[in-house]
Amino acid sequence: MKVCKFGGSSLADTAQVAQVCDVVLGDPDRRLVVVSAPGKRFKDDIKVTDLLIACANARLDGTPTDEALEAVVARYREIQETLGVDSAVTEAISENLATTVAGSTEHRERFMDAMKAAGEDNSARLVAAELQRRGVDARYLNPGDAGLLLSDEYGNARLLPESYDHLARLREAEGITVFPGFFGYTREGEVVTFPRGGSDITGSILAAAVKADLYENFTDVDSVCAVDPDLAPDVQPIGEITYREMRELSYAGFGVLHDEAIIPAVHAGIPIRICNTNRPELPGTLIMAEREVTHGSVVGVAGSSGFCTVFASKYLMNREVGFGRRFLQFFEEEGLSFEHMPSGVDNISIILREDELDEATEGRIVAHIRDEMGADSVSVEHGLALVMVVGEGMRYTVGVARRATAALAEANVNIEMINQGSSEISIMFGVKEGDRTAAMKALYAEFF
Ligand code: ASP
Repeated sequence: MKVCKFGGSSLADTAQVAQVCDVVLGDPDRRLVVVSAPGKRFKDDIKVTDLLIACANARLDGTPTDEALEAVVARYREIQETLGVDSAVTEAISENLATTVAGSTEHRERFMDAMKAAGEDNSARLVAAELQRRGVDARYLNPGDAGLLLSDEYGNARLLPESYDHLARLREAEGITVFPGFFGYTREGEVVTFPRGGSDITGSILAAAVKADLYENFTDVDSVCAVDPDLAPDVQPIGEITYREMRELSYAGFGVLHDEAIIPAVHAGIPIRICNTNRPELPGTLIMAEREVTHGSVVGVAGSSGFCTVFASKYLMNREVGFGRRFLQFFEEEGLSFEHMPSGVDNISIILREDELDEATEGRIVAHIRDEMGADSVSVEHGLALVMVVGEGMRYTVGVARRATAALAEANVNIEMINQGSSEISIMFGVKEGDRTAAMKALYAEFF
């Protein structure tokens, strides 16, 4: 059994939805299908999820929602009509959206999640209807009925482990099951979504639950590439990659697969194939537990913006028992999740995502570290980008750091911070936002 997930661009218009159904029917093992909401049809198009967010915001602001809602319905209607699917589907979609937008806004995040989830939910209804029109035994399945239970962290949900037992039953389902990605339900029965791009996570969880032989993640590129293809002409495609490598690259900006989508499948021993909906015959990229290191020590170079550093120094920090705990405890109390924590003899830095830190929080952090923890100096630096060089082979190769730092120096990029993960499969450089592209190009040129 294979679980296949189709991304937003694969659901964007009639031709793509038809192609999705062709791909599904091209292999009898593809019995569990996860779909995203319709994505962009062309460069400046708007994804259905973003239309839904705009519509939800209009409701929250007390402005009319009719136009925004009709823009969403129109996307589905066009596909339904041109496929020749019964118009009852669009009527159901329209009704579903009207009910959702009229729902309670008392809890803003909860309302927003219910709206966002409607994109995937209705996509799944439409794909199931098209498969039925073709005479296939297929049905839409609601994640609540399937028992996909998530934490009540709206917009940022995590799986509740008991879901696996519920979802395992899908292995026995007759015919083809079409499952909406991106959302599940809290124990209290409220709709809650994963972070953006989270349909990948749904697919991975389902693959793990039904013990699939393969999790196929269909998208609009032939394979994962060693660097952002916009930065290098003739960029090298990656044939095989380990899940550890992929996790680090996705974390640092590889947009092909959500970084939280790797672990569920791989923990269950299920390989993931990234492949192109429009060229399903190509091998794509296989993400697996182990690979033979054949093409050099570095597998990819990634970069991501939007980080900041809180830096604190205090003489004899190395001898002060409990400093680290108290330092981190404050971040916990503020509800801040930190990304990295490089430290020195008398200093420590915390790297956070920029969007976690508003001005007031920043002020409280600085005051706490200076006044309560007695730091000699404390500062917050904004506009940091993280650039990563990743590869399992690095562990056994001498001189990767030397080559990387030399390449950055030649490109005139100042390194603000270096961090080699304890796993030794990546080296991370903190650079100024404005240097990110130059750094990535220089590193790619060096290693490929
Ligand atoms: N539709 C959602 C988004 O745009 C989730 C997804 O596509 O995976 O983020």
